[in-house]
Amino acid sequence: MYDIQKIREDFPILSRTVYGRPLIYLDNGATTQKPRCVVDAIADEYYSVNANVHRGVHFLSQQATELHEASRETVRRFLNARSTNEIIFTRGTTESINLLAASFGEACMKEGDEVILSVMEHHSNIVPWQLLRDRRGIVIRVIPMNDRGELLLDEYERLFTPRTRLVAVTHVSNVLGTVNPVREMTATAHAHGVPVLVDGAQSVPHMPVDVQALDADFYAFSGHKVYGPTGVGVLYGKEEWLDRLPPYQGGGEMIQHVSFERTTFNELPYKFEAGTPDYIGTHALARALDYVSAIGMSEIDAYEHELTTYATARLKEIEGMRIFGEADAKGSVISFLVGDIHHFDLGTLLDRLGIALRTGHHCAQPLMERLGIEGTVRASFSFYNTREEVDALVAGIERVRKMF
Ligand code: PMP
Repeated sequence: MYDIQKIREDFPILSRTVYGRPLIYLDNGATTQKPRCVVDAIADEYYSVNANVHRGVHFLSQQATELHEASRETVRRFLNARSTNEIIFTRGTTESINLLAASFGEACMKEGDEVILSVMEHHSNIVPWQLLRDRRGIVIRVIPMNDRGELLLDEYERLFTPRTRLVAVTHVSNVLGTVNPVREMTATAHAHGVPVLVDGAQSVPHMPVDVQALDADFYAFSGHKVYGPTGVGVLYGKEEWLDRLPPYQGGGEMIQHVSFERTTFNELPYKFEAGTPDYIGTHALARALDYVSAIGMSEIDAYEHELTTYATARLKEIEGMRIFGEADAKGSVISFLVGDIHHFDLGTLLDRLGIALRTGHHCAQPLMERLGIEGTVRASFSFYNTREEVDALVAGIERVRKMF
């Protein structure tokens, strides 16, 4: 049973006020709020188990190591990966993509080799490839989209050449909400012998993700967007790929033996995890995944879909409303502009009504260029948002519109 009031009680921040008004938090695409169990897990581990992992003979270190590795198993189960060797802990999606760009770029890409991205990528799935382009002379090719915000799959297929080495594409657009057909796109890439990295920053928090069913070779996400703590994220990679790739950073944990002449590297997944990991963060992330799993990812998906459909219909009642992103398959994100009100002004005035939204280019400037705009206002919903909050958003926009 989906009991929204009970769910909201798990998130203390949702009952605070801003400017004397109840907080209406619609910036979940940027980061999500934390349930009490996640915050408690952080405090509890610091108070009762804290010790560095993987290196102590003592009791606490062993217990901390067990919690950290159990968290890896929780992530494995959540993504339905084959093995915990395929779960690399990172700082977040951005670091996961940078890790892959550095490691895959080093091992598999030479001057003139190509990576395929899409026009709706977040900067974190563009700039690492541009850095690689500057270092190695690789070529970036871009999948275009139609005006509804759907990738053009015929064009995508035509981008493959004998020099294509990787496809790196977002599962869900953080601006348009488009859910890209990554399973189909992966099958296309594999038919050309090319592996695929999926940016799951906006999908993992909102829908069931099964990396084996998708057949993605690499999959990245951030803890803080899926109700976990900041500073921890995941790179999933198929073991046969991760085995072949060189380490990303050097240091403790990732080695087997070090001499000044030669160093041998640790086995997976530690080969990619130099230094003390955020073992408190991984534990809290696992609690967050347990939390959403208890509600059910399919239930979350269905609830948010219904809420977003309701919000879209209500927003369209507003005169001058322009919604960017009307793909058939769409997640819980709505980007919009109203008349000629500047997105920043609209966002700022709505903020004074207690409504937290994101405004600007959303770290997707090439997409803004494609849309011919500077920025939008974005409402991004979570399973704890309500129809009443959507109604308040609509009333707030009407109020601002009348001021202009
Ligand atoms: N990709 C997408 C699609 C995103 O929405 C975001 C966060 N806005 C990122 C990557 C980057 O995530 P992080 O900042 O947590 O590394």
